[in-house]
Amino acid sequence: MDLGDLHLGTAHALVAESLPRHLPDPQADPTAYLQALIDGLCELSLKDTLTGLNNRRYLDAVLESEIDRVARTGEAALLLILDIDHFKLVNDAHGHLVGDRVLQTVARTLRACMRPMDTVARYGGEEFAMILPACQPGFGRRVAERVRTAVEATQIPISPSRNLSVTVSIGGAYAIQWIRSTTALWTERADTQLFRAKQGGRNQICIEEAPDSTVSADEKSLLLGPLYTASVWGELSQDLNAAGGSAH
Ligand code: GH3
Ligand code: MG
Ligand code: MG
Repeated sequence: MDLGDLHLGTAHALVAESLPRHLPDPQADPTAYLQALIDGLCELSLKDTLTGLNNRRYLDAVLESEIDRVARTGEAALLLILDIDHFKLVNDAHGHLVGDRVLQTVARTLRACMRPMDTVARYGGEEFAMILPACQPGFGRRVAERVRTAVEATQIPISPSRNLSVTVSIGGAYAIQWIRSTTALWTERADTQLFRAKQGGRNQICIEEAPDSTVSADEKSLLLGPLYTASVWGELSQDLNAAGGSAH
């Protein structure tokens, strides 16, 4: 696009069409109008246009802040990564537009399953992510199971006489308590579990069993730096356990 084509009207149309938002009259209050336009553009930059869910950029920001919170407070937080099973077959059999409708419907189902404090985002193509703060281990599995069955039960009309349904595989991992890890390491652990769910036959859930027993060497070194050794880690674990936390 030639930059000469970019007018305020372009931004106005984008915000007015995409967000349920009243824009102030630009003649009456130009400052309020421009502020509302900027706010609208910021909001749109964090949304996935197809599904209306939060996008990857937003997800990364929430993952960062959850890592901080869990490192500071030792509270639990679960990351679920969901991947639609055999989605390529949906596109191949019914076309890309039907595929898009499936993505939109799954997104709606996921949104309906979450608590106000949870975050749901489109992670990539046919993958979604949910961040569940303050989520104890037993509760996490129940939520994931509720999501899995809700998706499976959703009927997606693709023609006047035909419905379609899809399933999801779900991988989950808890943020490491008391350690400032990284979004890459956290998502990598959830991805490993998603891979296990796919290998296990799809339409199932795998969640890291002991959330704080699988701290990787990389994560330990984030806390202890190059001084990390197994014995130092052992002593630290004992101290934290004695203080009521845990760091195995
Ligand atoms: P698996 O069960 O192993 O996950 O198999 P799969 O077929 O779901 O996975 P694969 O990675 O082979 O295919 C994903 C497909 O998702 C391929 C790609 O064309 C499609 N896809 C990605 N983004 C979009 C989109 O925005 N719309 C549509 N319609 N399809 C998309
Ligand atoms: Mg995939
Ligand atoms: Mg898939």
